[in-house]
Amino acid sequence: MRYVRVETEAELLEALDRDGAHLLSGGTDLLVKMRSGLLRPKSLVDPARVAALRGIEGSANALWIGAATPFAEILASKEVAARAPLLADVVRVLGCVQIRNRGTLGGNLANASPAADSAVPLLLYEAAVELRGKRGSRSVPIGDFFLAPGRTVLEHGEYMRGVSIPVSRGDWIPFFHKVGRRRALTIAIASVGGLTSISNGKAVDVRLAAGSVAPVPLRLKSVERAVAGQALDDSVIARARALAAKEISPIDDVRATAHYRREVTADLVARALERARAT
Ligand SMILES: Cc1cc2nc3c(=O)[nH]c(=O)nc-3n(C[C@H](O)[C@H](O)[C@H](O)COP(=O)(O)OP(=O)(O)OC[C@H]3O[C@@H](n4cnc5c(N)ncnc54)[C@H](O)[C@@H]3O)c2cc1C
Repeated sequence: MRYVRVETEAELLEALDRDGAHLLSGGTDLLVKMRSGLLRPKSLVDPARVAALRGIEGSANALWIGAATPFAEILASKEVAARAPLLADVVRVLGCVQIRNRGTLGGNLANASPAADSAVPLLLYEAAVELRGKRGSRSVPIGDFFLAPGRTVLEHGEYMRGVSIPVSRGDWIPFFHKVGRRRALTIAIASVGGLTSISNGKAVDVRLAAGSVAPVPLRLKSVERAVAGQALDDSVIARARALAAKEISPIDDVRATAHYRREVTADLVARALERARAT
């Protein structure tokens, strides 16, 4: 197996076009798969020195995060704290110091685990991923990026350049909670994120998303529709709870049963709305 360190996007495109080539970023997912025999690449292509894939930049319309930016940099960024605080909250509980030093945003998304923590805030912020391949660049809404566990719209030879988070309203009440088998360094059994905006006692805008409870991380659209424009009284929250349990499609696995995931997700949705009501 070859290790190829590229310096430019042109070199990256050429290296990824070769048979059996696989992009290696932090390696915190990829090396685990290789060690367990699930993946046997002929070459590993490392984009860490490609400047276009790294860094965080704010403009008037959006916040840009390069795909090869490690989580530690995202957590340390004042731009992220100010403009996408929910992403910072999520990264704070992603893995541990070592994983945040190596692991990247692009790797978390491209790996396409239903439990990918960063997907939840990015779904809520309605971010877009920028992909580049031999045929050019395309921007894909994060909600259309994941196809199935381990599968995305990325085509052979294509890579993710970065993620663009549009500037959004400043009055969001953020919520994120991840339930795992322990409190730290844990993969989600279920997670729920929310952004709620309250005016005159009503939820004028509500976004909710969940991880680890369906083949891909998802927005809870039926709950959002039922809650938007409503006063968050107990009956509305009870309805949201019931709809959340219906909208997801969890499975039994080594970490938890589908039944437990459904109950926890419904509870977390109720908690997100109760928190917004109390703010
Ligand atoms: C101990 C441990 C704890 C963890 N805890 C968590 C956790 O709490 N939450 C969580 O969500 N995850 C967790 N993970 C999973 C992992 O750390 C993250 O998913 C991480 O973000 C992966 O990023 P990476 O740079 O290491 O990706 P890599 O392992 O380098 O790559 C993962 C996949 O993405 C592809 N890829 C990477 N970058 C790009 C790109 N720019 N364009 C196209 N494809 C790309 C690779 O080819 C590969 O298929 C944990 C892993 C370990 C080992």
